[in-house]
Amino acid sequence: MAESTAPMVRSSVPAADRLIGVKLPVLEHGYVVLVDYMGSDAAIVQAARVSYGAGTKTVRDDRGLIRYLMRHHHTTPFEMVEVKFLLRLPIYVARQVIRHRTANVNEYSARYSVVPDEFDVPAPGSVRLQSTRNRQGRGDPAPPEVDERFRTDLERLCSDAYRVYTAALEAGVARETARMVLPLAYYTEWYWKIDLHNLLHFLALRLDPHTQEETRRFAAEMAKIAQAICPIAYEAFEEFTLAGLSLSRREQRAVRALLDGATPEAACRTAGLPLVREDGKPMSTGEGVEFLEKLSRLRATS
Ligand SMILES: Cc1cc2nc3c(=O)[nH]c(=O)nc-3n(C[C@H](O)[C@H](O)[C@H](O)COP(=O)(O)OP(=O)(O)OC[C@H]3O[C@@H](n4cnc5c(N)ncnc54)[C@H](O)[C@@H]3O)c2cc1C
Repeated sequence: MAESTAPMVRSSVPAADRLIGVKLPVLEHGYVVLVDYMGSDAAIVQAARVSYGAGTKTVRDDRGLIRYLMRHHHTTPFEMVEVKFLLRLPIYVARQVIRHRTANVNEYSARYSVVPDEFDVPAPGSVRLQSTRNRQGRGDPAPPEVDERFRTDLERLCSDAYRVYTAALEAGVARETARMVLPLAYYTEWYWKIDLHNLLHFLALRLDPHTQEETRRFAAEMAKIAQAICPIAYEAFEEFTLAGLSLSRREQRAVRALLDGATPEAACRTAGLPLVREDGKPMSTGEGVEFLEKLSRLRATS
């Protein structure tokens, strides 16, 4: 193993240092804060080269190495970077974020402290109807009266719930029991620490349009922080993961048919990617539809 006599210096990134302690607002009462970080692009490179110090390599070499690591899923060097966030987020968002088991989490205790009276209500005109294509998603804007009614009902429900909560606390009910009345729109807060490899995995899933919009908005702020700490790694992540496109075996067959001059529909038929249901109606989801979406993405790529 290579040895170095160069003194070790804690890496610091001015753009990231400027973000420490800054509240990046999300939704009406939420925020993302960078509490601390360890490492930088240099730490990734250093780990990959298993040597100390930047050595004689140029920035261009470092970028090339990081892009190589990202392309080839050589992930452990990215685990050398750690990021600690403070997140204040509605409970319905927190329930999605907590599924990412590779983060270390320490949450505000509603057994120990009183929950503040802050809850999330969609902005006027932003309520959407259930998607007809995606059972997990939202679709067209709700009619104005539905939008208004939902937001008013939610506000009333949350206010009533908080009144019951406060009355229970005043009557001496334990905080851990009284909190049972609070809806998912109420906020929680936690420290959330994760290494860069797993943060990028989180961002790949939670910046994706399939993720609920409110969760995506938190992910977008966290992405800005990741980008500030490790701009080169983040650029490679954008290139190979966010903007990358994977093709299944059938999709590759369809691409071959396209290269031979087939229409997209004919290519799907050749490749066994279904676009039509058994009753003859067009499919709105499934592998064939997703392949056509990939083609649309390709056409839109600048
Ligand atoms: C659009 C979308 C919709 C979703 N819908 C639902 C839903 O309806 N219901 C639902 O319950 N969840 C749902 N999820 C959550 C999803 O199933 C994952 O639990 C979540 O995204 C965390 O992903 P992860 O396990 O890859 O991440 P992490 O927990 O951060 O893990 C990162 C990686 O570490 C490895 N790993 C971590 N822990 C283990 C383990 N115990 N065993 C094996 N490998 C492990 C895996 O390789 C994993 O990919 C949804 C997620 C998304 C993005």
